[in-house]
Amino acid sequence: MSALRNELRRELRRESALLHIDWTACDGRGLCTELLPELLQRDEWGYPLSLGYGSNVPVPRALMDAAQDAVALCPRQALRMLGR
Ligand code: SF4
Repeated sequence: MSALRNELRRELRRESALLHIDWTACDGRGLCTELLPELLQRDEWGYPLSLGYGSNVPVPRALMDAAQDAVALCPRQALRMLGR
């Protein structure tokens, strides 16, 4: 396991927000996975997912700005931040 992945796991324990994915609104083109490759991958149909998590993905502080960019740029408004 890479040092970056270990660092992200430590950060996830201190996370302060969740990124909610509304798959019913998503068009599956994957812009968010390009903006947040550390958190999101594409499934076989192109929809974003985060392995080990459902539709609420913990966001480490180090990726908060990128997560907020993904929310703002999602063309289907399928992403939003949830407070904890
Ligand atoms: S940017 Fe929005 S519409 Fe595009 S794949 Fe991500 S959640 Fe879906």
